[in-house]
Amino acid sequence: MYNPKEHRNYKFRIYPTKTQAETLTNWLTLCRLCYNAALADRKNHYLRNKASLTRTKQQTILKLDKDKHPQLKEVHSQVLQEVLLRVEKAYQAFFRRVKAGENPGYPRYKGMGQYNSLTYTQFGEGLGACFKEEKLALAKIGLVKIKLHREIPGKVKTCIIKRETTGKWYAVLSVEEYPVLYSPNWKKTGLDVGIEKLATLSDGEQIPNPKPIQKSEKKVKCAQRDLSRKKKGSKNRDKARQRLAKIHERIRHQRQDYLHKTANYLVWKYGKIVAEDLQIQNMLKNHHLAKSIADAGWGYLFSMLSYKAESAGREFIRVIAHGSSQECSQCGAIVKKDLAERVHRCPHCGLVLDRDHNAAKVLEKRVS
Ligand SMILES: [Zn+2]
Repeated sequence: MYNPKEHRNYKFRIYPTKTQAETLTNWLTLCRLCYNAALADRKNHYLRNKASLTRTKQQTILKLDKDKHPQLKEVHSQVLQEVLLRVEKAYQAFFRRVKAGENPGYPRYKGMGQYNSLTYTQFGEGLGACFKEEKLALAKIGLVKIKLHREIPGKVKTCIIKRETTGKWYAVLSVEEYPVLYSPNWKKTGLDVGIEKLATLSDGEQIPNPKPIQKSEKKVKCAQRDLSRKKKGSKNRDKARQRLAKIHERIRHQRQDYLHKTANYLVWKYGKIVAEDLQIQNMLKNHHLAKSIADAGWGYLFSMLSYKAESAGREFIRVIAHGSSQECSQCGAIVKKDLAERVHRCPHCGLVLDRDHNAAKVLEKRVS
């Protein structure tokens, strides 16, 4: 699922050979022991000195440990170093909670089976991990068969190798940014906007609504309650009003940022984007829908898409598509359904498809 943050993770199944799996399993054990040792070092250091052991210091200790325990050298150095980053993160989270007045448990030591991933912090030719001969090339492991079931829309920065409890192995690739170049394909897609999801594309990809906004809603409610309790005309009321306005502004920015990124992504990926020419102003008059529609920001998304597409030499096309949600994308028959029906079931050709996915396909078909 698409999630326009700085980092997006894409998970692919990998098929290490028996030897490779054994090596990776061995690495997991060594990293786990290293993790526990680093955690213990931090704890002891703190008890003795009432000060935190820094990651830089821990790296020095790790170097010495490597001389004492040569088997640690079997693990790729990047992967081993990253263990210390995890320890640091666990510590930071612990102290954050202490500061917040909570009573968190001390970061836990990892038992067998509780340490299941290895991170190559750098991805690219000559670095820890990269693609080679349509395989995933992992330094010190070799070429691993990978099933790339989807495109990777951007530049891979890190690669996490994961062993799941099922015993299956996966590579989680973290993609940081889109390449400046546009995707060379000129694929066409329909774009069906919704309320639960921001949009659905004709290949079934779903673009969720931005999460932080749902979270912020609580803050808005608190601030509103706060405001309503203050005496009219008082200074405190003014302050409360300003606080509320600030929260609203932040939400608007977050939403706009998300819509920008979404538009960038779509224009990057597709040559032709077809959406319904919604009469958004008219829809806003329907009070039931108004808030959700305004929140979803379709109008903003559409204007972003049209100017970004134009400057990239792409096409954003809005079609009058009355009843695109009622039409069958496979046979063209009209299949009536009310808003609550989430699945399109065509009695004529037998097509069963998510309602929005079907609508996106219908939109795509409207333009040649
Ligand atoms: Zn049909």
